[in-house]
Amino acid sequence: AQPSGRRIAIIGSGYGGAVAARRLAEAGYSADLIEMGMDWERAAPVNGSVFTKMTAPSARSMWFQDHTEVPFSTILGIPTSMPIKKGAGALGIERFAHMKVYVGHGLGGGSLVNGAMAVTPRRSFFEQVLPQVDAEEMYATYFPRANSALHVAPPTQQMLDSKWYGFTKVAREQAARAGFTTTQVPSVYDWSYMAQEAAGEVPKSGLDQEILYGNNHGKQDLTKTYLKAALATGRITPIVMTEVTDLARRSDGSYRLSLRTINFDGDVVSTRTAVYDRVVLAAGSVGTARLLQRAQALGTLSGLSPAVGQQWGPNGNLMVARYLGLTPTGFSQSCMPAMGVNAWDDGPGSVFAEIAPLPLGIETFTSNYLAVTNNPNFGTFGWDSSSASLTLDWDSAKAAPGVAAAKAVMDKINRANGTCYRHDLFEGGKAFADYFSYHPLGGAVLGEATDLSGELKGAPGVFVMDGSLIPAKIGVNPFVTITALAERNIDRLLAAKRFA
Ligand code: FAD
Repeated sequence: AQPSGRRIAIIGSGYGGAVAARRLAEAGYSADLIEMGMDWERAAPVNGSVFTKMTAPSARSMWFQDHTEVPFSTILGIPTSMPIKKGAGALGIERFAHMKVYVGHGLGGGSLVNGAMAVTPRRSFFEQVLPQVDAEEMYATYFPRANSALHVAPPTQQMLDSKWYGFTKVAREQAARAGFTTTQVPSVYDWSYMAQEAAGEVPKSGLDQEILYGNNHGKQDLTKTYLKAALATGRITPIVMTEVTDLARRSDGSYRLSLRTINFDGDVVSTRTAVYDRVVLAAGSVGTARLLQRAQALGTLSGLSPAVGQQWGPNGNLMVARYLGLTPTGFSQSCMPAMGVNAWDDGPGSVFAEIAPLPLGIETFTSNYLAVTNNPNFGTFGWDSSSASLTLDWDSAKAAPGVAAAKAVMDKINRANGTCYRHDLFEGGKAFADYFSYHPLGGAVLGEATDLSGELKGAPGVFVMDGSLIPAKIGVNPFVTITALAERNIDRLLAAKRFA
């Protein structure tokens, strides 16, 4: 039986939601885990697979889109987009005027679609970004806990030396020629599974275009780690295909959630309301912002901190690709990045550029990078009442400091190797795709919009547990930090008996 008798809802099942579900359940609490996307573990395979690969997309690939849409929109002028049927697919896009935020939908959230790169930030940078958090405790307790629970491991030399990482080797050599070091990037992809893929012993997955639309085998996403442990307790009830559309505070201090359940084709199956005493907000930076901005605009939550909606950022994300002339990067590319160009010193010019595959199934003579930069600018969420939609003020001018930093690094690499930028991959012929992010962060920053454990100021019993807590950037790919911070916060909240 519930130790407290309190009704607990967790909204969203990505990193923050999965940590909360597991740790609450282990402490004896029961909770509803409300997720707008599919339970992919229970989806019937089609042609032997649940998720689709990049080159053979279907309605399962993207969230209600009639065509695929990836950051590299053309190659040699030919669109990469492919027609698909609309459905509750795994990869979604949250669209704003000058920013497309890519997100995962389904039990497991972003872990279903992400690149598995599991990087602990430099401690000095973490201290700069989140000085309100005890870094000693994070690096002694919570980062190790997150790394272990997520099954993080460094890439094996065997795989790095294989043809599947030829694209990484070339980028590494060319970075070295310009005086830059590259570092290995740990991952939650199972490296021994990948070795078996390479040997032809098991179905190919990360080695066969399974990345942005989900991964069928080797990736240890949250359904294989935190969510598996949470569900095994029998105390967590997943409510899938169900979006929380409104969050309202009731006069007795409990919260009323409005729920809309759809089927795979998007037809509304039911709408209802449910009352909870405690609400964990883990809908991701954009999902959480939408609920909070809407609730404030409709007056269903009032008295929140003015910090709500502030300090958003794309983790300084930019994509950039270099054309290498006659140097091939191989058409056999692992979809799981394993190294990054490390030009990070915590200063404004810092760049960490993960060496990313260009999983198009053809030889492209291209080095592709997803760069993380130390962009000082913030975006702010708002609410447009006329269209009843979330707004975000982010544009190219705000992205510019990140572009300048990445350009300084890539210019040097180009000069040292006689190579150039590709202008045929990204929208508008841009060399630096500054119009999208895989790493949305901020909007309900820890200690500002919330108290120091994530409890929303002005809404007692509502706890923010996702990427919203981190102001704008963290210097590396963010899910390890989101996980570790959620571990810290749930520990503090349980110790303070906030669910009791
Ligand atoms: P999310 O994981 O986004 O989870 C939020 C969940 O809430 C989703 O499942 C969503 O469907 C659900 N939801 C939203 N709104 C509602 C609502 N109103 N009602 C019900 N449910 C709702 N990070 C890394 O560290 N390494 C990588 O290699 C990496 N690669 C990436 C590649 C891609 C293509 C993408 C898109 C992201 C990548 N990321 C990577 C980023 C990482 O996945 C995110 O930072 C992380 O998932 C965010 O965790 P979260 O808990 O904040 O929310």
